[in-house]
Amino acid sequence: MNNNAAAVLLMLSALAAGKEVVVSRGELVEIGGSFRVPDVMKQGGARLVEVGTTNKTHPRDYEEAIGPETGALLKVHRSNFRLEGFTAEVSVAELARIAHRHGLPCLVDWGSGVMLDLSRYGLPHEATMPELIAAGADLVTFSGDKLLGAPQGGFIVGRRDLVERCRRHPLTRAVRVDKLTLAGIEATLKLYLEPERAAERIPAVRMLTASREQIAPRAEALAGKLRAAGIACEVIDGVSRAGGGALPGVDLPTRLVAVAHPAPQEVEARLRAFDPPVMVRIQAGLLLLDPRTLWDDELDVVVSALRSAIV
Ligand SMILES: *Cc1c(COP(=O)(O)O)cnc(C)c1O
Repeated sequence: MNNNAAAVLLMLSALAAGKEVVVSRGELVEIGGSFRVPDVMKQGGARLVEVGTTNKTHPRDYEEAIGPETGALLKVHRSNFRLEGFTAEVSVAELARIAHRHGLPCLVDWGSGVMLDLSRYGLPHEATMPELIAAGADLVTFSGDKLLGAPQGGFIVGRRDLVERCRRHPLTRAVRVDKLTLAGIEATLKLYLEPERAAERIPAVRMLTASREQIAPRAEALAGKLRAAGIACEVIDGVSRAGGGALPGVDLPTRLVAVAHPAPQEVEARLRAFDPPVMVRIQAGLLLLDPRTLWDDELDVVVSALRSAIV
């Protein structure tokens, strides 16, 4: 599909139209744009049955909500916020057991589509697609262009008969992707056949998994070039954030290049308007450049941008 929103809409339309779909109140999220779980549910023709509370949902909450009208149990990844404190949620494995005991499918909207074990890179573990399927999820949907690092797209993976029902739905043609996107997605997925290579070769994954030690030399190189161009700067420790509805609240340690300027907002605006745009952030009055998302051969462009932005 052309994005995960379309994947969720199609999955619900094909499997749960006219039926009830049970979702935890802690997972009725808004992702950005106008993707809100209750709205997508309505659009897909399913009736939302909310269970649990904002902070806690228990297995018995799902059990008690299941009746003759129930079409599926749905789990939604929170994606862009975190729930901390007095909380409880039902895992995909547990939800799948409950669903299967009642002859229902366990559907999962996992959002980011992470395929690698991120804990190997010092990040919090996120269940990967293969782990969700192994845990018993019948269908999982996810985006191509979040943690997967592929072109924009939406996936529905899982049980063959259910995927086939989605494929045969009239909506499928309306939300299908073009051949160029498919080629890009195929090329990205092939890299995952060798996980080490995927982390190295897929730009988004490489940037997310880069350690502070890997980023430090690039920060030093950028600082050296800026000083040579007459721009004073310092290299300091800092953190990067993933954004884009993935890894909420997770700090990725990085090295930053800090530039002092009396009017940082104006410099920031000029950098953003530069061709190509250079995105920085301002903290404690300092312009901060995070080389995590730069390639080595892009440093000169950043230097030119700063030279024209600092007047
Ligand atoms: C990002 C996200 C979506 C929407 O995905 P798009 O590919 O941007 O349409 C839907 N559900 C969840 C849980 C998400 O994280």
